[in-house]
Amino acid sequence: MNIAIIGCGYVGLVSGGCFASAGWTVTCVDNEPAKIGSLRQGRIPIYEPRLEEMLRENMRLERLSFTTEIDAAVSSADVVFIAVGTPALPAGGQADLSHVFQVVGQMAGHLCEGAVIVVKSTVPVGTGDEIERQLRRLRPDARFAVVSNPEFLREGAAVEDFMRPDRIVIGAEDNASKRLMLRLYHPITLDRVPVVVTRRRTSELIKYAANAFLVSKITFINEMADLCENIGADIGDVALGIGLDHRIGCAFLQAGPGYGGSCFPKDTMALLETARSFGTHLRVVEAAVAGNEARKRGMALKVAEACGGSVRGRRIAVLGLAFKPGTDDIRESPAITIIRLLQGDGAEIVAYDPEGMTRIRARAGHVLLANDAYACMQGADALVILTDWPEFSELDLNRVKALLREPVVVDLRNILSPEKASAAGLAYVGVGRPVSDGDNHIWSLAAE
Ligand code: NAD
Repeated sequence: MNIAIIGCGYVGLVSGGCFASAGWTVTCVDNEPAKIGSLRQGRIPIYEPRLEEMLRENMRLERLSFTTEIDAAVSSADVVFIAVGTPALPAGGQADLSHVFQVVGQMAGHLCEGAVIVVKSTVPVGTGDEIERQLRRLRPDARFAVVSNPEFLREGAAVEDFMRPDRIVIGAEDNASKRLMLRLYHPITLDRVPVVVTRRRTSELIKYAANAFLVSKITFINEMADLCENIGADIGDVALGIGLDHRIGCAFLQAGPGYGGSCFPKDTMALLETARSFGTHLRVVEAAVAGNEARKRGMALKVAEACGGSVRGRRIAVLGLAFKPGTDDIRESPAITIIRLLQGDGAEIVAYDPEGMTRIRARAGHVLLANDAYACMQGADALVILTDWPEFSELDLNRVKALLREPVVVDLRNILSPEKASAAGLAYVGVGRPVSDGDNHIWSLAAE
């Protein structure tokens, strides 16, 4: 089967590499010539574990190629995936579908007879219907089908998630395209992966409902962390105690500085817009979105409190810029928002991230960047951990103490041991955690 994938971002490249590894012939298309140029030379423009080797191997086997020519790629494809971005529009929270519809216009004249157009981008309910309407208008002569196949991969583990997904969701309106999609995914589903086959609109909603549920879980545990701090309980134990209940599950119960990334914020806003336009009030999702916004300001205040009430004139070392470990993606990263809030409050920021530096260099020239974690904290008045990269949990805390001007550590990811930090002479502040005196927990009770 010949596949064309339009959009060479996180989703397009991972899908392309994985389908090629599954044995299909894949052409990946992007409208950025520089991106295609470096991909052809085997260099990928993003950081994603295992991806570069996978793409190179499939190029060597001639199962994977890259082009800017959408017409050539589409004209020989049985299946065309749309995997372009659907960011939030600047005003309001609606998804910007201009890239999707641009692709539809560009491909229409070149589709093969019987082609299946698969929407992998996250798109509001009804977008598949609209794509079908536009294609029928542009190609009244052609036979084709439009299918929804949302993607659930996580950046940082994208290849693994694509090859071993929890489930695959297919939303199709006819049996032939359902069968074709099942054949396409057969090499992956062989490993007992469940497939949910449903109608197109339901499939589109599943993606948004999944993200909205995860966002609600994160905001819930963050609010519980606030309560833990006020009543003297440990959020780590609370999360474990509830997460071991199979009805709840442990994933997404790590208290922290709030969710971010290229999907959760925009997808929740887009879902709320969809719900509003269909006259439905999603109170839980609205509360989760509002709680997450407030959280980032709350985290900046936590840093100020740890610094004695204000960060004005203080040098703050920030470890972590990416919205999560394993990626260089800083889109909507809570780290970036919190840095801006601290700067607005008068702090000087010096930052380090194992992967997010290139992107922050391009986007935020006013943040000083250090070459490694220890250089970052040299002479700083406080250390703030904002992304849970594993290497930060291995910091030599005695060295940290020696390098900091003031021994203040604000661990907004709870990756350090409070006991070890206080044994090294650091004033440690975590999220929803007791303050440690070394052997025993002591509690800083806001109510006392
Ligand atoms: P991205 O911004 O990384 O990549 C999009 C790519 O599409 C870019 O390379 C861009 O140059 C290209 N593009 C835009 N218009 C084009 C056109 N007309 N022709 C050819 N190429 C074009 O986006 P992404 O993170 O891969 O996300 C893609 C979609 O998948 C979004 O809808 C997103 O919500 C969804 N999604 C993303 C993730 C994730 O973790 N990144 C996970 C699941 C779903």
